[in-house]
Amino acid sequence: MTRYISTRGEAPELGFCDVMLTGLARDGGLYVPATWPQLSADTIAGFFGRPYWEVAVDVIRPFRRRITDAELGRMANEAYATFRHPAVVPLRQMSPHQFVLELFHGPTLAFKDVAMQLISRLMDHVLAKRDQRTTIVVATSGDTGGAAVEAFAGLENVDLIVLFPHGRISEVQRRMMTTTGAANVHALAIEGTFDDCQALVKECSTTSLRDATSLSGVNSINWARIVAQVVYYFTSAVAAAPARAVDFRVPTGNFGDIFAGYVAKRMGLPVRTLRIAANVNDILARTLKTGIYEVREVHATRRRRWTSRSPRNFERLLFESRPARCGRCAPSHGFAEAVRRFVLPDATLAAIREEFDAGRADETETAAAIRAAWREAGELVDPHTAVALAVADRDTTDTTVPSIVLSTAHPAKFPDAVEAPRQRPQLPAWLDGLMTKSEHMKVMKNDQAEVERFVLSVSRAAKQGVAG
Ligand SMILES: *Cc1c(COP(=O)(O)O)cnc(C)c1O
Repeated sequence: MTRYISTRGEAPELGFCDVMLTGLARDGGLYVPATWPQLSADTIAGFFGRPYWEVAVDVIRPFRRRITDAELGRMANEAYATFRHPAVVPLRQMSPHQFVLELFHGPTLAFKDVAMQLISRLMDHVLAKRDQRTTIVVATSGDTGGAAVEAFAGLENVDLIVLFPHGRISEVQRRMMTTTGAANVHALAIEGTFDDCQALVKECSTTSLRDATSLSGVNSINWARIVAQVVYYFTSAVAAAPARAVDFRVPTGNFGDIFAGYVAKRMGLPVRTLRIAANVNDILARTLKTGIYEVREVHATRRRRWTSRSPRNFERLLFESRPARCGRCAPSHGFAEAVRRFVLPDATLAAIREEFDAGRADETETAAAIRAAWREAGELVDPHTAVALAVADRDTTDTTVPSIVLSTAHPAKFPDAVEAPRQRPQLPAWLDGLMTKSEHMKVMKNDQAEVERFVLSVSRAAKQGVAG
């Protein structure tokens, strides 16, 4: 059964439940399975036409030990019952070989719901069994926070604190974090940027607060989130082209989603190319081209988008692609947040280029892709999806391999960016109450001590620690 090792090689090996509750490894690395489980071609073919939650059980089973199949099945069933589409993640055909995988039918209209709805249940379950509580502090530029709030609101064993940059996220995104009314959810509007929020959260995990409040994380470095995302690579590939190879185009920020596609491939799914689709923040496109990983200042895009300086999950791929002689390679050959530039070893670069390629689309190309999707297929797509469509459209030379574009957000989440002629995307009717519900949030200075005091004051794990 799978054990997990840190990419930096200096943290203890853990099992699935501990990896999920730990998030970032104590040596600063990311957890990866020591070996990759395999699914046979027959097993994969058998996913066709099965309910999504059942496939989730089959894909996740080899990664966990203590959670039984029945428990996993119950939680997956509940998690995906929150999705507003009977297929959970429907696959739409845009042209003979082009498909769009709609990952946005969850409670906050973003693909992050797919993983968050499941791991909130898994975490609460494991904590209840252990008679433990945990505190989650997460920084968000928009989508992560809402998905986390929806998933963790009202849970018995978890307190959730989300930090977002005050005044710098959309109203829909803010309201998804501030209107649940759940006592275990705390929205902090920080007077600063998203980077400030991230720095505050990161610092929390290095101080005594980490142990005092038994801190965990649910950002995309949490292995349990990646595993939950592996599932839809299987279901969509099997639906688009049973027993044949497919390509995936993935709008990429922190490299978590596309890394899940790589995991599916390592488990036996026939995937030809995983294409990284980037907007103007194109660090990985440059890395693949030049072999040099170089952090540059982020360009603020005119429209509201995710931005990522240093895609954290890329460390997992570097680790997997390390030269064979390298063993554990700690720390993951030169990769650390502090390093702003390093040259990939030739063997690593070659191994990565075997599996991935990258393309970028600027704002003009993205807008053109939104209009084209509307004109040609009658679909409104969000800007992230449009980046991937723009990138996919460039390879018209080879139409023998079906191409699946991951659609990561509902167009109504970014209505100002999605201006197809005379069409403004509407929020689905079931979100009608969102814009009128009362909001609960606390505005706070960009101040480490103040944030930590707040976290300590609301953490039930901290109180349990003191009591027992
Ligand atoms: C988070 C997010 C992404 C990026 O996903 P990563 O796993 O960070 O690469 C892409 N699109 C949308 C809409 C997102 O919310």
